[in-house]
Amino acid sequence: MNIRLLSCTLLLISNSLFAQLRSPDEFLGYSLGSKFTPHYKIVNYFNQAAAAMPQMMKLEKYGETNEGRDLLLAIISTPENMARIEEIRKNNLRLTGILKDKPADAGQPVIVWLSYNVHGNEASSSEVSMKTLYELLSSSNTQTKNWLKNTVIIIDPCLNPDGRDRYVNWFNQMVGKTPDANVNSREHSEPWPGGRVNHYNFDLNRDWAWQTQVETQARIKKYNAWMPQIHCDFHEQGINNPYYFAPAAEPFHEVITKWQRDFQFTIGKNHARYFDANGWLYFTKEIFDLFYPAYGDTYPTYNGAIGMTYEQAGHSQGGLAVVTNDDDTLTLKDRIAHHFTTSMSTIEIASQNADKLITEFRKYFDEGNTTGTGEYKTYVITETNAGRREALRSFFEINGINYGSVSGASLKGYNYFTGKDETFTATNSLAVSAFQPKSALVKVLFEPRSKLSDSVTYDITAWSLPFVYGAQSFAVKEKLPLGNYSSPNKNASVSAAGYGYLVNYNSFADVKFLAAMLNAKIKVRIAEKDFTYNGKIFQRGTIIVLKRGNEDKIQQFTDLAQSYNATVTMVNGGFMDLGFDFGSEKVHLIKKPTVALLTGKGVNPNAAGEVWHLFEQQLNYPISLINAEEADGSSLKDIDVLILPDGNYKFLKDKESAAEIKMWVQQGGKMIVLDNAAAQVAKADWGLKLKKTDDDEKKDDKKDDKHLYADIKRYENRERDGVVNNIPGAIYKVEMDNSHPLAFGYDNNYYSLKLSSDMFEFMKDGWNVGVIKKENQTAGFVGSVTREKIKDGTVIGVMPMGSGSVVFFADDPVFRNFWENGKMLLSNAVFLVGQ
Ligand SMILES: [Zn+2]
Repeated sequence: MNIRLLSCTLLLISNSLFAQLRSPDEFLGYSLGSKFTPHYKIVNYFNQAAAAMPQMMKLEKYGETNEGRDLLLAIISTPENMARIEEIRKNNLRLTGILKDKPADAGQPVIVWLSYNVHGNEASSSEVSMKTLYELLSSSNTQTKNWLKNTVIIIDPCLNPDGRDRYVNWFNQMVGKTPDANVNSREHSEPWPGGRVNHYNFDLNRDWAWQTQVETQARIKKYNAWMPQIHCDFHEQGINNPYYFAPAAEPFHEVITKWQRDFQFTIGKNHARYFDANGWLYFTKEIFDLFYPAYGDTYPTYNGAIGMTYEQAGHSQGGLAVVTNDDDTLTLKDRIAHHFTTSMSTIEIASQNADKLITEFRKYFDEGNTTGTGEYKTYVITETNAGRREALRSFFEINGINYGSVSGASLKGYNYFTGKDETFTATNSLAVSAFQPKSALVKVLFEPRSKLSDSVTYDITAWSLPFVYGAQSFAVKEKLPLGNYSSPNKNASVSAAGYGYLVNYNSFADVKFLAAMLNAKIKVRIAEKDFTYNGKIFQRGTIIVLKRGNEDKIQQFTDLAQSYNATVTMVNGGFMDLGFDFGSEKVHLIKKPTVALLTGKGVNPNAAGEVWHLFEQQLNYPISLINAEEADGSSLKDIDVLILPDGNYKFLKDKESAAEIKMWVQQGGKMIVLDNAAAQVAKADWGLKLKKTDDDEKKDDKKDDKHLYADIKRYENRERDGVVNNIPGAIYKVEMDNSHPLAFGYDNNYYSLKLSSDMFEFMKDGWNVGVIKKENQTAGFVGSVTREKIKDGTVIGVMPMGSGSVVFFADDPVFRNFWENGKMLLSNAVFLVGQ
């Protein structure tokens, strides 16, 4: 036998060995649930299954995490279905109207998408993904083979591999020879930031619509290419709450159809059958509502699917075994058993109702396409700021929302910014029609006021796109004809000549260009006031790049200008028709700041992550991360700007350490405090004062009868009574002093997502850059007591201290990084204030 033949034979033998589908226990070498499986082994398990069962399974890598881990999708069905899987996928898109190449065929399997482990420290569900996969593929399970005849299953074994491995690696290091079920032992107490979030501390289950994170961006592309009929998001809740499954809790968004509500009951009852038979505890219809559009249940729901969250006990504290309040020991094996049961039960009920699911799915999209969901039929974005408009256009793009343009005079519509019905003119304006496959999603994202069927909700209540993007828009009740929209291409090229250049600075896209110029060490100046050159008015904030001092950088500047699509005007001299000449001291040279962010223990991980991601990934600007507990005068020696995101800062409470930081500010440092960090600076008595509310002042006064009896509450109403103090996230109109550099690039008003009732007293010796004068709530839910408090105070400002300053924001301007219009504010605070 020659060598070649021998190696061929060996290859055949090893292939056939490899080709055996192995159970998770066989493959891993331990029984599932006896330890946590690191992500790479889950990837290996899926790979071996795909190699063993190519006729029933297709495995795709759809992306990569920040830390380089694979994101995978397994598509599973019968060999017959898999042979025409691409046609099934396309046909499914034809049912929605997204694909229009030919009429849809009604004979279509139902598509069920199972998303495991979006929160990394809810770690049982990726273990379950392997068992689910095995039971679907294994010939020993005849039941699943029957289901697959009319069902296609899509499994994402882990939506957040970085977070999951953070938890699993940590746990495996903490656990001893025998797991300790005592909840107070260290293996049940995760360190900062915890495994819930991704690399940049983002909660991926708040990111579906916004897609700020790479994991979400990659997943939604696939989601929109498939558009499943059912989507399940597997989670874990506190160790003492047994199990939650559909039907969801109120409030349901009003666009959710009767069919979508009803089928949640059908599924829930099927799960209950299995849980009852095993004597397992569960609850339904509580806590987890269907409203905020960026969850793994709502986003699919607004895309025509039955979208659901399943919650098993075990989140973070579960470990391998833990004693719960009712003196039971909850094990990882229990958690796997429960999530596996709902996985199977979901597939079973989908298969039993496949025809009805397809019929209703089609009906859902037919209605959206032909009648347009909601009272408004066309949304017209008349915003003239190209940067903001383009940001909104990309948002439509990544969500598969069709858009076009509208032109016309004397159009009538609801003006989001004035809250009134008005007449307006559109000129090639970006526009979205309600008549389209994404009709429900469009309505949810554009509605001026979301209707809550119940005011006790889990999350923020306002996200209307015109406010998020700061883009002047109108909601029109008529169906307007849409033409093609073309994005402005500002700079074919910028020629290298003249005395210098003027660059528009009025959107976050322009901030990115500014950051790139600073990184390239291009000398940049900024105009403090409006000026006129060659008969054209340039707004304050306009960036001035002069040839002088940049002699060897001009080529780099013009290249950057082109790649950032910046609006650039050439100037041939420094004499302005009106306003300051470039040599004036009112034209400020921008020093490239060294920026640090406080992070680590005590800091809200999400809030720190938002700033980290903004600088590192969006602005490509260096930022040092300093542990909050180690921050002192010496660690700030070389830092120009220090950002304190929402958190609990011990050093602000301690007189001595606070004095060190205060000294750093007085000597020229700039401290930017966000959200609750601003309130803590106020309490530290640096001069900033939290606004006292009427409520606080009246506390000691004698109460009248009405107030006296108001304290007597019915026990059964306790959740609802709590709501009067609620502000789960509402939109407020903030009046801006846009002559201050902090507000350069903004109009007279800014729409802020208000997350607490915190406000500051008007400052005599500082700059009240953003104020809420009277009651100026624009959208979202605010409890009656809180509503009274939010008026006549400063929410954005600058407090000068010695040669430095404190820039404060009562609320997080870059909340979840989806509040696009706040990004320039934080950037201005870093780059422009105090220059
Ligand atoms: Zn979760």
